[in-house]
Amino acid sequence: MRYQAYTLKNYLTLSQVQSSLSPAEIEAIRVVGNVLPFKANNYVVNELIDWGNLSNDPIYHLTFPQKEMLSHKHFQEIEKALKNNLSAPELKSIVDNIRYDLNPNSSGQMENIPVLGEVKLSGMQHQYNETILFFPRSSQTCHAYCTFCFRWPQFVGIDDLKFAAQETSLLVEYLQQHPEVTDVLFTGGDPLVMSAKKLQEYIDPLLNADLPNLQTIRIGTKALSYWPYRFVSDKDSDDLLRLFEKVVNSGVQLAFMAHFNHSNELKTKVLETAIKRIRNTGAVIRTQSPIMNHINNSADEWAEMWKRQVNLGCIPYYMFVARDTGAQKYFAVTLEDAWKVYREAYSKVSGLARTVRGPIMSANPGKVQVLGVNEINNEKIFNLMFTQGRNPNWVGQPFFAKYNPDAIWLNDLKPIDGKSKFFFE
Ligand SMILES: *Cc1c(COP(=O)(O)O)cnc(C)c1O
Ligand code: SF4
Repeated sequence: MRYQAYTLKNYLTLSQVQSSLSPAEIEAIRVVGNVLPFKANNYVVNELIDWGNLSNDPIYHLTFPQKEMLSHKHFQEIEKALKNNLSAPELKSIVDNIRYDLNPNSSGQMENIPVLGEVKLSGMQHQYNETILFFPRSSQTCHAYCTFCFRWPQFVGIDDLKFAAQETSLLVEYLQQHPEVTDVLFTGGDPLVMSAKKLQEYIDPLLNADLPNLQTIRIGTKALSYWPYRFVSDKDSDDLLRLFEKVVNSGVQLAFMAHFNHSNELKTKVLETAIKRIRNTGAVIRTQSPIMNHINNSADEWAEMWKRQVNLGCIPYYMFVARDTGAQKYFAVTLEDAWKVYREAYSKVSGLARTVRGPIMSANPGKVQVLGVNEINNEKIFNLMFTQGRNPNWVGQPFFAKYNPDAIWLNDLKPIDGKSKFFFE
């Protein structure tokens, strides 16, 4: 299968869009797509979306912009700007203002930039001791875009192998100076939009350097759900699999952090083949997703996802709370509801699927799990715990917050006992 992308430039050429969407829905894609990232492809359109039942279709809502993803005010601003045929810079300035309102750098993503001597390593992020995030310059895009994602400021491709070499040598040097780091997590965008050859330019130096503490190379990817052909029939699929094998044979573990949002992404024949081929290299696939309204806000759906993942030989890893950015209001599930969904789904699956942890807010101070809502002396409270923290001493220590049925993120929570700050603030 040959990859074909659909963006604002050509989505009107899709027969499904012509025949299944109303003029207002088509217009909404154009308006919202100017603010939130929009890219689909032929696999997503033809094999994952059920065009006969769009109002309930999770993958449609995951990839195609919807009117309600912007506030009424923002929507009107863009609609008016488009109608008035503003110049590109004028439109851009309106769009940028709206994006700025949507909190693009949520959770301190722009902090935790490691330094080497005087050099800021801007393509890396080191928040937790053991694991460094590495954003290769050539992987700042994806096979399709999720409407809930706000990594769009990064979505510009720079196609240059020299960068790879430069970036990787800085990473190697940093790892030599930081023996506490055991895991390098390649992320993006999606690192697997890179050719096998380019990915190898990044990975070989890690394998060839003397890094006794490096245990695992992780790859954060949504290629399995958005383009499983990446591992099956792209022209360098076999080279890619050989690269995975090479990592495993070198004694470094290769861990896929695979991003799946709905069981519909786990049902195609080509996905099954892709997973088999990856697992045959010795790589291990772990799975993660946020819980989101309109997509997967149901215990049955999560139980189905985890079961199916275990069937396919994958290991359920994280259920996240949707970040406080972009179209968060559209996707938001309250912390209490997220916990209820997690608990009910967790209680319905085999212990082999209970490797999953959630619901977790990946927030500025750390990853905070909602353990649940307790009632003490007729008063409800949230019970929470860090599974990762800026300060490792915070990890594993349960703590409380005032009950707030509307809370959707950590900053909606307040400590109990009249204290004004949490211990980590
Ligand atoms: C989630 C995350 C990691 C990885 O954490 P694990 O719990 O080891 O999977 C690393 N760095 C950052 C900044 C993260 O958000
Ligand atoms: S695949 Fe990941 S990085 Fe790409 S759009 Fe989706 S959430 Fe964002």
